[in-house]
Amino acid sequence: MDQVKIGKFISSCRKEAGLTQAALADRLGITDRAVSKWETGKSLPDASIMIELCKILNIDVNELLTGEHITMENYKDKAEENLLEMTAKVEKRDKLLLQIEIVMITVVIILLILMTSIGSYMCENGQVVPGTILIFSSLLLLIPFLYFGLKIEHDAGYYECPNCGERYVPTMKAIIWAPHMGWNRKLTCPYCGKKAYHKKVISKNRGEN
Ligand SMILES: [Zn+2]
Repeated sequence: MDQVKIGKFISSCRKEAGLTQAALADRLGITDRAVSKWETGKSLPDASIMIELCKILNIDVNELLTGEHITMENYKDKAEENLLEMTAKVEKRDKLLLQIEIVMITVVIILLILMTSIGSYMCENGQVVPGTILIFSSLLLLIPFLYFGLKIEHDAGYYECPNCGERYVPTMKAIIWAPHMGWNRKLTCPYCGKKAYHKKVISKNRGEN
């Protein structure tokens, strides 16, 4: 996706619609600085306001992402191209999220070991109350990390059923209660109903990782 081209396109469509940056920003409920950032190719409009923006500019999302008016003949090709690029972006983000989770788990384990050993050392040396508090708070610390870790595993990528090969996103509840080995989780497939260890995958397409 060519952000500069998209920016120029937004700018020209905005002028065609007879709007200033400030007027457009006003209608979208955002700052004119955000509009200026799109038009100079520094950022892309959020997915949440893309549809509203396109309505105001009299274009469709596919045209916006391509950065030009599209004729009927090459419409399908452009749509597929844009979809692929958007998918690639999401997959890249998901991979990053899973890497962040590994770092997070490592940090938490180190913190936990450190805090509990200092805590028990304090208990053995007569400082029972502060020592116990330290051990207890290290366990409390675990809760938000555990939650964010599980949330990442829910949001990033898909799970693949080894039986029917379908890829899907399970519910948060299923993720929380499922036993796991590494990234793989024991889940019930919503397609074939078989319970098995389902592999974590980034892409929705079969045969890819
Ligand atoms: Zn299945």
